[in-house]
Amino acid sequence: MNNVVIVGGSIAGVTAAGSLRALGWTGEITVLSDEHDPPYSRVPLSKGILAGTEPAESAVLPALPDDVRVRTGVRAVRLHTEGKTVELDNGELVPYDGLIVATGARPRRLAEVGQTGEHVVRTLSDAENIASAVVGARTAIVVGAGFLGMEVASTLRHHGLDVTVIDRDPPLLRLLGPWLADLIVGRATADGVRFILAPNGVELIGDPVRGVITGPGEEHFADLVVTAAGDLPNVEWLESSGLPLAGGLVVDDRCVVAPGIVAAGDVAVREVLPGLFRRTPHWTNAIVQGQAAARAMLDSDTAPYEPDHYFWTEQFGLDIKIAGELPLEGAPEVMAGDPDELSALLQWRRDDRIVAVAINHRMPVARLKAMTHA
Ligand SMILES: Cc1cc2nc3c(=O)[nH]c(=O)nc-3n(C[C@H](O)[C@H](O)[C@H](O)COP(=O)(O)OP(=O)(O)OC[C@H]3O[C@@H](n4cnc5c(N)ncnc54)[C@H](O)[C@@H]3O)c2cc1C
Repeated sequence: MNNVVIVGGSIAGVTAAGSLRALGWTGEITVLSDEHDPPYSRVPLSKGILAGTEPAESAVLPALPDDVRVRTGVRAVRLHTEGKTVELDNGELVPYDGLIVATGARPRRLAEVGQTGEHVVRTLSDAENIASAVVGARTAIVVGAGFLGMEVASTLRHHGLDVTVIDRDPPLLRLLGPWLADLIVGRATADGVRFILAPNGVELIGDPVRGVITGPGEEHFADLVVTAAGDLPNVEWLESSGLPLAGGLVVDDRCVVAPGIVAAGDVAVREVLPGLFRRTPHWTNAIVQGQAAARAMLDSDTAPYEPDHYFWTEQFGLDIKIAGELPLEGAPEVMAGDPDELSALLQWRRDDRIVAVAINHRMPVARLKAMTHA
């Protein structure tokens, strides 16, 4: 193998490239990215960058070694596995010996085709667009009360906007379980955020979008509408490739898709139960899978990777770090601090599993993760 092509230049792709070099591989590496910015982290886009407390430059990922070629502004449109080439939007065919797919995901949009003005948060320019729209705005609607929607709501409150969050489901409940969801929603409500439940879903109104319908006669208007209604894996360019797709590109426990092809990050799905495929669209997973994909590319006998279920979120004055598999059933054991004081170290036990959660509690992440092995 002389040349590896990595499609997708975000954390999974960049980690895979760096790992190939760290493992001593000296062949040619090309990273293809359809974004124009150099590789950056999305994590601060809904937090410090949107809040205006962190400059956009702080999101840029550490540079890759000079002998890794990063091509920005090029989009893969098709994969030809028989000829081992990636077809780009300019018609160019990029040959590969080994291929790493790291094309991530994009926001699921709610606007009708051609309807303008729906804000989402996935890229630097999305965050910049919201930051511009915030100027002069007084009210905002956030559709989607998952981690991302709640972080955006928190940041828009920080900007002094009157914020309403709308979702089909109770905020964060499915993701976090009742105890932690209640704690966060309590803080958000105390901070002035209004929640609306829309069990039948929503429709965006206006062009440009200026509000949301949640049911007959239930129209809600705002100066700014941001949707955070989930994401879709970027797999369309693989549809004619014959590679296994099931709500993402299917990988095994070593991140292998097919001989000479591996995948990592938000684009990858694993079969967690027979017939049930699941993505893990989190930062730490993209890193762990990026490293595993590089190992598997170089060694077909490599061991399965250890999934890392670490996740964190910052919202409404709560810095929450979670090690272990969600959601959390029932109430936690308090290991240190006091949840009523909004600073605590907690653990949830179920069968032989422990999930450790630090809320505004300073502690090295490695120690938090170690609690889950107790
Ligand atoms: C606003 C925001 C905040 C987040 N906060 C947290 C957090 O606090 N904690 C946490 O654990 N996770 C967080 N996440 C999730 C985390 O950022 C993602 O899991 C991570 O970015 C996944 O990385 P990835 O490299 O797999 O995919 P992506 O980051 O989606 O990158 C994929 C790259 O591939 C490019 N691409 C796609 N298709 C093509 C193509 N055909 N040709 C060329 N290039 C292509 C895309 O443009 C993109 O640059 C957050 C995500 C967002 C959006």
